Amino acid sequence: MGPWIAIVIVVVVAVVLVVFLRARRRPAAPPTSSSAARTAGQTVARPPGRSGLGARIRSIVRADGATADWDALGELLIRADVGPATADRIVRDVRDAYEPGSDPSALVADEIRAVLGEGSELDLPADRLGVVLVVGVNGSGKTTTIGKLAARFAAEGRQVSLAGSDTFRAAASEQLEVWAERSGAHLVQQSRGADPGSVAFDAVKAAEARGSDVLIVDTAGRLHTKQPLMEELKKVRRVLEKAAGRAPDETLLVLDATTGQNGIAQARAFTEAVQLTGVALTKLDGTAKGGVVLAVRDQLGVPIKLVGTGETAGDLQPFDRDAFTERMLSD
Ligand code: GDP
Repeated sequence: MGPWIAIVIVVVVAVVLVVFLRARRRPAAPPTSSSAARTAGQTVARPPGRSGLGARIRSIVRADGATADWDALGELLIRADVGPATADRIVRDVRDAYEPGSDPSALVADEIRAVLGEGSELDLPADRLGVVLVVGVNGSGKTTTIGKLAARFAAEGRQVSLAGSDTFRAAASEQLEVWAERSGAHLVQQSRGADPGSVAFDAVKAAEARGSDVLIVDTAGRLHTKQPLMEELKKVRRVLEKAAGRAPDETLLVLDATTGQNGIAQARAFTEAVQLTGVALTKLDGTAKGGVVLAVRDQLGVPIKLVGTGETAGDLQPFDRDAFTERMLSD
């Protein structure tokens, strides 16, 4: 075998190798949309026409139009964070009111409005210092809601004082400082680790001395299941009562709409400790519908007073039960 034959063999092997490697590098077929969605960790799209709660409720009526699947309605409501006891009550009432041909979604809307009750506003005195105690777990939007409230009161021409009774988190007091500056509110704070009750007492005295119209008290929100937090909040409430000569005019729970059904446990723990007068439901600008407030209203009798729909000062509205109900049932 001469050298030429060896060269030809080497060239042929090289060509075969290059062709083989290029074939392996060719891109694979694009993934189908569902496999792409899975890789991105997303849920598979829901069937068309059944995405909103209202549409899904309408689908519980069987084809003959005369019977409805009431268990399915209960499940839909529980999945919307309504809570089993309140869901049962709604199903019972809707079933009683249902007649062949009626729209179960409209009946559910009526029930939701009935559970939520008439609108309820913040109730603050016009002739003396109004005290608003604000509680809620960390991250629920407590400080932001306080900042928005301060801005709203200031815009109405009221003198606002803020008390930083979350003396544990440095970030909380810095954030409160920023909000106080924006709304021109007077801020009472003490050094980190100070007694929250002592801050609350000082704040009432300072607000009264300045002739403030409203004092909003921020509090700590480490997990509600830890007893020391609840004891601390009870003490802050007692101190406010002693300093002002009466219970706080409002004790608001800030509840994150994305929390789901756990919100009822939070509300129960807080109202047992400090007797809530209202809920501020935050983060309703996202996809969460906040169904848990139905259970809070129904089981604990605490009205929803405010709704947070963003991170800026203007993103706080009085609770509108018709708009809330419509949003709950929409896509
Ligand atoms: P805190 O720990 O309870 O005081 O909670 P913060 O007030 O610090 O809020 C936690 C986060 O939620 C922050 O990033 C806020 O900007 C955000 N946040 C608060 N309220 C709302 C709201 O209504 N909508 C949205 N999208 N974000 C909010």
